[in-house]
Amino acid sequence: MKIHVLPSGPIETIGYLLTEPKTGEAVLVDAPEDVWEKVQPILAKEGCRLTELWLTHGHWDHTQDAAKIKRASGATVRAHRADTALIETPEVMKAFLMPGIELEGVKIDAFLEGGDKLTALGRTFEVRHVPGHCPGNVLFFQPEAKAALVGDALFNGGVGRWDLPGGDFDVLAKSIREQIYTLPDDTVVLPGHGPRTTVGDEKESNPFVAAVAR
Ligand SMILES: [Zn+2]
Repeated sequence: MKIHVLPSGPIETIGYLLTEPKTGEAVLVDAPEDVWEKVQPILAKEGCRLTELWLTHGHWDHTQDAAKIKRASGATVRAHRADTALIETPEVMKAFLMPGIELEGVKIDAFLEGGDKLTALGRTFEVRHVPGHCPGNVLFFQPEAKAALVGDALFNGGVGRWDLPGGDFDVLAKSIREQIYTLPDDTVVLPGHGPRTTVGDEKESNPFVAAVAR
């Protein structure tokens, strides 16, 4: 499995394209604006077809291209039920948008829950629910690749904003401690913005959420 890191859109939101030439499949995690233009040449080069679009959460900068990508690829869209309104009727977030941003809702084909196992690319991905930045934030953990795609729950030296609607710092800290810091220390954390990190590094030095509640 290859992991392509594709920062896109007005606030450099990262779409992660996972490809597996052996099975000819690809999964896209998050759909920032114009990521599809970056995804298509990679799919063509590696002989893969996009079959799945997984949304870590419903914020506009992660979902902007979702409707377009679903139309073009027929990929199955999966997301947590708690972010349905944000994803299917994004007008509700209009007040929080940058001026000039247009949003199109996309229908969620299948809901994700914490504890789900997803099979794709000949591998199994574990879904964990990590609310606090956004009520429906989930992460996707792939044990053999030692990788966790976490959306905006945890960053390298930071955590997601908790001041947006549905955000809550205590909930976020609990999610990080119970759902992310419990992954193996050498797990690579692939966040929705900025550089990657590891679970071990954040447990040791994250300034917002210590490994143990103080
Ligand atoms: Zn977000």
